[in-house]
Amino acid sequence: MPSSAKWLLLQKLREHSLGEGEVQERLNRIVDEIAAFLEVEVCSIYLQHTDGTLELYATYGLNLDSVHKVMLKKGVGLVGLIAEMGAVLNIGESQNHYAFSRQPSVDEEDFHAFMGCPILKEGRILGVLTIQNRFVHPYGADIEDLLQTIAMMLSGLLTSDSLKLIIDGNGQAGKLSGAKALQGESLYNKIALGHVVLHEPRIKLTSLVSKDPEAELKLLEKALHKVTISIDALLENGGLSSVGQHRDVLEAYKMFAQDKGWIRRLREAISSGLTAQAAVGRVQNETRARLMCQSDPFFRERLHDLDDLSNRLLRELVGRTATAAGGDLPENAIIIARAMGPTELLDYNRTSLRGIVLEDAGISSHITVIARAMGISAVGGVKDIVSYVEQGDPVIVDGESGEVHIRPGKGVIKAYENKVRFQAEKAAQYKILRDVPNRTRDGQRIGLMVNMGMAMNFPHLNESGADGVGLFRTELEFMLSFEFPDRQSQVRLYREILEISKDRPVVFRTLDVGGDKLLPYMTHDHEENPAMGWRAIRMSLDRPMLFRTQVEALLEAAQGRVLYIMMPMIADAKEMAMAREKIEHKYNSLKKKGLPCPSDIRIGAMIEVPSIVWQLDQLLPLADFVSVGTNDLMQFLFAADRSNMRVAHRFDMLNISVLRVIADLVRITGEYKVPLTICGEMAGHPLEALVLLGLGVRSLSMAPAAIGPVKSAIISTDLKSLEKIVGECLEQAEGSGKIRKRVRDWCKNNNIDVG
Ligand code: PEP
Ligand code: MG
Repeated sequence: MPSSAKWLLLQKLREHSLGEGEVQERLNRIVDEIAAFLEVEVCSIYLQHTDGTLELYATYGLNLDSVHKVMLKKGVGLVGLIAEMGAVLNIGESQNHYAFSRQPSVDEEDFHAFMGCPILKEGRILGVLTIQNRFVHPYGADIEDLLQTIAMMLSGLLTSDSLKLIIDGNGQAGKLSGAKALQGESLYNKIALGHVVLHEPRIKLTSLVSKDPEAELKLLEKALHKVTISIDALLENGGLSSVGQHRDVLEAYKMFAQDKGWIRRLREAISSGLTAQAAVGRVQNETRARLMCQSDPFFRERLHDLDDLSNRLLRELVGRTATAAGGDLPENAIIIARAMGPTELLDYNRTSLRGIVLEDAGISSHITVIARAMGISAVGGVKDIVSYVEQGDPVIVDGESGEVHIRPGKGVIKAYENKVRFQAEKAAQYKILRDVPNRTRDGQRIGLMVNMGMAMNFPHLNESGADGVGLFRTELEFMLSFEFPDRQSQVRLYREILEISKDRPVVFRTLDVGGDKLLPYMTHDHEENPAMGWRAIRMSLDRPMLFRTQVEALLEAAQGRVLYIMMPMIADAKEMAMAREKIEHKYNSLKKKGLPCPSDIRIGAMIEVPSIVWQLDQLLPLADFVSVGTNDLMQFLFAADRSNMRVAHRFDMLNISVLRVIADLVRITGEYKVPLTICGEMAGHPLEALVLLGLGVRSLSMAPAAIGPVKSAIISTDLKSLEKIVGECLEQAEGSGKIRKRVRDWCKNNNIDVG
């Protein structure tokens, strides 16, 4: 079949879908046209409802009275089988097939040959296109190929604006793109109602059929070559900016890019008359359909890789930009992505951003830290969400429960409007608590501080009524910058922060870059395990200029007041000694010269690498204070990568080993009289925060929004009885689930709201 004929067919189908007349008339004209083009006796279109039912929408050749009456339940009949498999079925004697289901009303007794092809859109089944004939042999490969091409054309037409119009006009709106709720994990407990923005926008195919397969093959070769080169470059220079682009993923891409079977299928699709881009689209659709049926995680991952690779190839062929960050965002944008690096989130215009939903990413990943700092609703671990949404779809992100509602119905929207109102009322109650002293019912004062990392979040410090900033992550402003901030710009930033915080202390943590927090303007060598690699204090000590500039900027900004400076990732006391020596040297020389400098300095260490827990006798004499980074400490204690969803939740924060470590830290820092704060995410959860208090912790630092709920729990608590219950949990060393339940029950019996 010459491609010019296919091109003509496409034109005609497009005209019919856009053309005059009622819905049914237009669909009827489409099936008539296909039947005439393929010279078949029957051509039918079945469309799928959200519950999987397939409705006969239009037919040429079957009983017209059965249109809209034949409703095949999920998996029923040959049509149901095709929808389930997401693959073509081509058989000579349909009536003997095990899946055949007789539908008396359609009058198909005389037809034996049957072929059906799924109409796929981004791997989702929109419906099934079928043809039938009286003869008793399967259709030839050319017709099979052609039907697939037509199904592909149809998928574009059916989901185009004109079809949406058709379906609306027919009173059937929402059937093809109905509501769906997915469950993920709450990363930041805010609720957001908005519209989907795909982080990696889908690529719209610009042409489907070509009259010149040779030219298309050349385009494909060129694009494949470019993609392979770009993957090689990523592998070589290690400029991996996103969490999903680990080396093994790229190695897998490379393998696929050279995969003979995949390339052969692409070439065959081009030889059948498709453009190079349409060929990639078709093979990608098939891959996605297989992906959706696949439950084995290993194969799912591989299919995901192949899907991503197809996107890269399509971007080469169609010429689209990489992410949505550069474009205009709609109001109330909700970013949906498979995975994203923390810096990529910072690229978005924050005024319109309301939420983020990720397939990967767990509670203590850095992207979560950034989402919290930005104050946007965040849910992670939502399996396959990218495949279920379309750009602009209405979506509700429930950062409290971890639910994500795609294209929600009226009832769900109403319920959420109420929930948002309730949240606002709660926030108002927490606001009232702002000036209430942070004391337990039996009078113990608790230090409540906030974690921050961006100057723009500082208004929250005042609103929260916190005692100060327990952790200022200096690297976040560095990540926002386009170049390495020089000394003067650092001074300006730190000064601004100190001014806003008035006389409250601000603990500046020196740069914690590396791992998944990369600076776009700095080259990073590839590392197999970046979280355990060249990051934080290791980098600061190896790059004396970088550290010195930051220390000088902090000393200058804090003139006349006490400067709190803290070192991340201390794994050995000697690192603390070296850092301390450098800071003191600089400070003393300023003082000696009579130059402006802080009235005093306090130098602290983060406890987030397990080795230091057993070196406290050497560390504590060198530290004016310590702060426990439970996010990193737990990832290393449990050997569970905090940004890998598969492992990040294999342990409970209230695991007995965590409780024991904290209890030891409280005891030993007490002996050395070194103040201790907990600044990991754990401190910001009311239940966990109470357990920490029960273990003897008296100072917590958390995201600003967590202050209200945690404070509300603290002021309703009698510390003595809390200590008793937590002490019993420690002694009895029960499983973590039991500890959680026991403390939760205790809170319930004592009317303490822990969420
Ligand atoms: C931590 O590790 O707990 C911590 C507070 O530091 P970050 O989350 O920035 O690594
Ligand atoms: Mg840390």
